[in-house]
This record gives sequence, structure tokens and C-alpha cells, in this order.
Amino acid sequence: MIQEYQVRVQPHVAANEQALRSWLADEYGFDVRTLTAVRILRRSIDARQRTIFVNLKVCCYINEQPRQDEYVVTHYPDVSSAPQAIVVGAGPGGLFAALRLIELGIRPIVLERGKDVRERKRDLAQIAKTQQVDSESNYCFGEGGAGAYSDGKLYTRSKKRGSIEKILNVFCQHGASTHILADAHPHIGTDKLPRVIEAMRNTILQSGGEVHFQTKVTRLILEGNRVVGCFAADKEFLGPVILATGHSARDVYRYLAEANIEIEAKGIAIGVRLEHPSELIDQIQYHNRQGRGKYLPAAEYSFVTQVDGRGVYSFCMCPGGFVIPAATDKEQIVVNGMSPSNRGGQWSNSGMVVETRAEDIEGDDPLRVMHYQEQIERDCWQQGNRRQTAPAQRMADFVNNRLSYDLPKSSYAPGLISSPLHFWLPKPISHRLQEGFKQFGRMSHGFLTNEATMIGVETRTSAPVRILRDAESLMHVRIQGLFPCGEGAGYAGGIVSAGVDGERCAEALARYMNGNV
Ligand SMILES: Cc1cc2nc3c(=O)[nH]c(=O)nc-3n(C[C@H](O)[C@H](O)[C@H](O)COP(=O)(O)OP(=O)(O)OC[C@H]3O[C@@H](n4cnc5c(N)ncnc54)[C@H](O)[C@@H]3O)c2cc1C
Repeated sequence: MIQEYQVRVQPHVAANEQALRSWLADEYGFDVRTLTAVRILRRSIDARQRTIFVNLKVCCYINEQPRQDEYVVTHYPDVSSAPQAIVVGAGPGGLFAALRLIELGIRPIVLERGKDVRERKRDLAQIAKTQQVDSESNYCFGEGGAGAYSDGKLYTRSKKRGSIEKILNVFCQHGASTHILADAHPHIGTDKLPRVIEAMRNTILQSGGEVHFQTKVTRLILEGNRVVGCFAADKEFLGPVILATGHSARDVYRYLAEANIEIEAKGIAIGVRLEHPSELIDQIQYHNRQGRGKYLPAAEYSFVTQVDGRGVYSFCMCPGGFVIPAATDKEQIVVNGMSPSNRGGQWSNSGMVVETRAEDIEGDDPLRVMHYQEQIERDCWQQGNRRQTAPAQRMADFVNNRLSYDLPKSSYAPGLISSPLHFWLPKPISHRLQEGFKQFGRMSHGFLTNEATMIGVETRTSAPVRILRDAESLMHVRIQGLFPCGEGAGYAGGIVSAGVDGERCAEALARYMNGNV
């Protein structure tokens, strides 16, 4: 017999398989020895009250063997002699597009400016050591894209359930833990992601596709209003193009603007990374001075409010994680966050950002939001001693317009320097952050504190440009055979939604190649 139950148990029961089996047998009156297996289908934590519960949806196999695979397996055929298409960028958008092309019988040629995910790691370590950023291999560029060295959070506000599940199942097929299929807030962790990304690359290669690293696309090959390929590393690569170059490829945006390929300015969110001791966040969120105890994960939070007509909100929270230097070029400071799979670090960080609309920046240049973003990153670098040392301020000092005379310890490896962020951040941002922090402090006692450090600046929250595409064909509004894809094109935000958009673009490209557009 296979029976599903929706249960509410204490954390120590949810954390231990034997304890859960005994609890289920007691609760539902069967002999525990007949319970061959228990699979957790859904898991979420209810921390609204003093007593914390874990909500589980479980599948009990009673005198029955469970199915072998805990995830749905996708079949990838051999496409070595199939017609080819070009995928620019090996982030989640590009990788999922390439895998979907294979499913649809098209040979993907993936062109990636950065290095493979292992080699890339060495360049990341160099940033703290040398204070220099390699403009082709960094936290945004290289195999796996911007999400490779991250928290690997896999939740999205998108409601396309089927498409999201497909992405999660493909991750499992390539080595991610099947926990991601059950957790309400799944994440993979920066220590596990590289292996999953390598496995995805191997599937592409074994199916007959190609992956070229250190191969930066510098321009498209156009025949009238049709793309027939692109130029990269002094070579021509022929085929229709999925352009999945991410939110940080400013040279791509500049090229598109110069080539009069239609783009428009798009709003982004700008702010800082806020870092608290993780113990403090656990105490606040779990309403317990002892913190999270042995059985609960590092606590998460999420805040949102409106100040003077613009959203102020927490973004991309990394419980038990690190603040990292995510610039992509010289003379800029950009911060972001990542966590290992156990989220066991001493600090918990989150972006704290203010909505900035395209109309908030004067002019009609489609690159104006990008220029504004660049200027703030340059200002930050100048405030940070012209190194990767990031300007920082204690949270309560910032709210009270006070310079911090010293700073708490931090996970940010290149180091911090005390700086009056309230003074030099653009007023529309600093003022709204100050008001937002006051409100968050009222919503959550203890959150607004001088134990927390604000680290400047978080600017790469989404693309500052949208590459215009037709809603039906997903093709550029004028250029045939060009499929703007993922976050950089302005159609996704986050790993899963970029993956979903990658799959959709692959399907659209297949329709185009089959003459159905
Ligand atoms: C540090 C960090 C942590 C993050 N954490 C999370 C998280 O936990 N969860 C989440 O959902 N999202 C997270 N994000 C956001 C997430 O990574 C992005 O939303 C996602 O990666 C977007 O996917 P993409 O494929 O559209 O673009 P990207 O991942 O940016 O990939 C674009 C790729 O294109 C390549 N490229 C650029 N220009 C060229 C060119 N000219 N030629 C060839 N290749 C080129 C780049 O090198 C890059 O590999 C994080 C981002 C960062 C930076």
C-alpha cells in the first residue's frame, strides 16, 4: 500500500528518519516493520509561533518497494549529426537552452567567454588575495554563469509549476540532492553547484553538442534582418542564436545599441548587502534566545515595504553565508552573497535594495540605467580605497547619519573600510534605505542593530536593459533567428526562471528551424 499524509511534527522528528518512521507508525496505527520506505514530498518550516513545527507531506510505502528514481529522468538523444544552433552564455539560461535543444533534436554549440567552473574558482580566490578582478573570469562570468558560486536558491515567484519542476528534476538528474524537490525553499549551495554544472556540460558533450570556453562573442553575423551566426575568438559560428549573456555583459548591451538592434532601458534595484551574525537572525526568527538548536536550518527572513512610491526590500538572502566581491571589471565594487549547502557560516546576509525605475533616470538613452549603475559601482570603488576593500557602515549608524568608528567582523574576504554610506550613496537610495530599515526594525525586534554591517554596493540585481523580443515567437522584434534569453535579456530573475526561459527559447528556436514561425 502507498499512502500519502500531510503531517505537522517537531523539528527533531522531521530531522531523523527513524524518529519520523516511529511517529508515523504511532500516529496512523501501523506496524513500523511494515513501513518499507518514507519519502518526503514537501517540507516547510512554520516559525510563526514560539513552538516551531515542520510541515511535511510524506509518502509511506507499506509492504511495498518505492519507485527507483526519485526524480523524472529526461532522455537526451545523440544529436552529433543534427542541424546546429548557437547558445551564447553558459549560465542557467544557456545551459538549460542547450539541454532542451538536444531533447528537440538540435545540436547546441555553446560559446562562453569565461573559463570552466573549476578553473574559474582559482580566479575567484585571487580577488581577495590580489584585490584584482579578471574581467573575463569572475563571480558573474564563466561556466554556470552568475549562479554558479552562489547560494543556489531555487525558488522563484514564477507560477509555472510544470516548468519549474522540470528544471529541478534536471538538476537532480545531474547530481543535486532530491531534497530540492521537497523543500519549500530549496537551495543547492556553492560547494555542490560546480559538480552539477559539470555534469550538465558532460550531458551536452556526450550527446554530440559542443562547449567552447574563453570564447567571447563580439558580434552577430547578419544577413539583412536575419542572424545567421556570430563571431567569437576570431571564428565564425553558424546557426540561429540564443543570446543568454546575463545582466553583467555590458559590452553586449553596448554592441546591440551601436548596431541599432532594438533594446530599452529597464529598472533595477540598488542598495547594499546587509550582514548580521547568523545567531542573531536565528534568535529573532525562531523566537528563541538559544538560537536554532540542533535540528533547524539557519533562519531566513524576507522584508518588503514602500517608501516614497518605491519598493524597499530584502533580496537574495544567504543564511549562514558569505558576502562576496561580484564586480566584473576594474575600478568597480559590487557585492553579492553565497552560502554553502549546510548554511553553517557565522553570518547571514541579504541584499537590501531600493527599486529604481528607468523613468527615475533622466534622458532616453536605452543604456542610461546601466550608466547610472556603473557610476555607483565606480563611486563605491573610490570610497573603498580603489581596491576591492568595500566601504561599510554599521546599520544603526547609517540610519542615524553617523560614521562608524569601527566595524564588526565580516565574511567579506577582501576586507572592509568604514565609510559614510548615508552621505555618498545617491539620496533616493540612502533615504529610502534609512526609512525602510526603521520599518523593518519595528516589524522585527532586534533586526535594526549596530551588530549588523551594510556593505556597498549591491547593483547587479537584474538587467538594466531589456532586449526587445516578440511575446509569441520569443524572437527579437526585428532580427529573425535571434532569441534574447534569460536574465540579461530582461526576461528572468534567478537561476530557475533563467532555466525556464532557456527551455522556452530552445522550443521557440526549434519551431523557427522547422519553419513553423
Ligand atoms: C553571487 C550571486 C549569487 C546569486 N545567488 C542566486 C541564488 O541563490 N538563487 C538565484 O535564483 N539566483 C541567484 N543569483 C542570480 C542568478 O545567478 C541569475 O539570475 C542567473 O544566473 C541568470 O542566468 P542567465 O543564464 O540568464 O545569466 P548568467 O548566469 O549571468 O549567465 C550568462 C553567461 O553568459 C556569459 N557571457 C556573457 N557575455 C558573453 C559573450 N559576449 N560571449 C560569450 N559568453 C558570454 C557569461 O560569462 C555567463 O556565464 C545570484 C547571482 C550572483 C552574482
